[in-house]
Amino acid sequence: MVAGLLLLTLAPASAPVPESPFLPPEARDLWREGVVLARGTRSLVVGHHAPPGTLDELARRADTAGRRVSDVLGRSVRPLVVVPESAREAAGLAGVERVDGLAAVADGGRVIVVPEVFARLNATGKDVVLAHELTHVVAGTGDLPVWLYEGFADYVGYRDAGLPVRTAAAELGDEVRAGRVPSELPGPAAFAADGGDPVRLARAYQEAWLACRFLADRFGEETLVRFYREAQAAGVDRALASLGLSAATLTARWRAYVRDQLA
Ligand SMILES: [Zn+2]
Repeated sequence: MVAGLLLLTLAPASAPVPESPFLPPEARDLWREGVVLARGTRSLVVGHHAPPGTLDELARRADTAGRRVSDVLGRSVRPLVVVPESAREAAGLAGVERVDGLAAVADGGRVIVVPEVFARLNATGKDVVLAHELTHVVAGTGDLPVWLYEGFADYVGYRDAGLPVRTAAAELGDEVRAGRVPSELPGPAAFAADGGDPVRLARAYQEAWLACRFLADRFGEETLVRFYREAQAAGVDRALASLGLSAATLTARWRAYVRDQLA
């Protein structure tokens, strides 16, 4: 038995890795050893010492996320998901100091999973996170305001999640029912993932999500997608003007929508 266990430990727990040229550039040369691959119908998952079962599940979820993002953006999407061994390795790959509290990050054409946090999410949460990050990868964030690219990613993430608004925006709902409707769209500081105020951070995402959800409810999803692209190309004010809105009128109507959805 002991020998068997040893053998299991020593045997490479990985599928054979194809030669680098067969992998997309973002998936090449990540690690010298311990590379494990899983393929979905449209996704590729590359892990470092990850249990194959975990990667197979991720490939299935990445396929789902790819389908959801593709449905909204109207183009084919082939997700690439990277699963490092630890949060520290994830931060290194993403080229950032820390990824505290994040379940995954979008980085240069790929979604990098933060294994410790991602593993703690339930099935719905995993699907929302993957679709959110994949939206960043596919749609880009460019010079857009944070509320717009985070709200848009959450719009796609939650679109097919089947969660009631009051559940998905629980923290903001508490504020609204206490009579505190936010007065303006959240600025960059509200999105600082420094562990300082996790409830404020959650509310910032929910506020941003409801701004994009308002635009989709009022003008239609295709218009929201067009608005996003126009904002990338010509700036938010120009894109708002195409909808007959200004920053001030968007804010006023978003506030009314937030109250209506959560009060
Ligand atoms: Zn995001």
